[in-house]
Amino acid sequence: MLRQLGARDPLGLGLTARSEATAGREARILGAERVARSVCPYCAVGCGQLVYVRNERVIQIEGDPDSPISRGRLCPKGAASEQLVNSPLREYRVKYRRPYGTEWEDLSLDQAMDMIAERVIETRRRTWEEEDAEGRPLRRTMGIASLGGATLDDEENYLIKKLFTGLGVVQVENQARI
Ligand code: SF4
Repeated sequence: MLRQLGARDPLGLGLTARSEATAGREARILGAERVARSVCPYCAVGCGQLVYVRNERVIQIEGDPDSPISRGRLCPKGAASEQLVNSPLREYRVKYRRPYGTEWEDLSLDQAMDMIAERVIETRRRTWEEEDAEGRPLRRTMGIASLGGATLDDEENYLIKKLFTGLGVVQVENQARI
């Protein structure tokens, strides 16, 4: 009470409510060397983010008050997106489960890319439609479809659409729009 009165904090909501442990802490963004503006990759709302960087490493991600979409707010997913970059649980190896398999296997990226390329080429060849029953040109395959995730950014989606359209794939969609 005396401390509260002396500090002109009669309701105990100011500095006198602060413990020593709290006083010893500092904001995670204090050590940042620069701040980059970005957009949360998790869903189609597109909330603005401030990405705090030190030694070229992301140290914190917070809402951008200047974003007209979100005005500084992030939902729990967006507020935790720093873990998308730094989580020790982040998986860096390609995981593969064979047909009828019950366990995941680790594959090298080269091997996985070769397997995907072989399957795309084989499926496209097998399911290619040059024209319809009346002879009208189709030049497409309905044997391949692409469903992107919300963590893909605009540039990645642009390249995915360009690649698949070039292959004659017409079923190209993104989870963020669904
Ligand atoms: S912060 Fe939440 S609501 Fe905003 S874009 Fe990210 S996931 Fe969507």
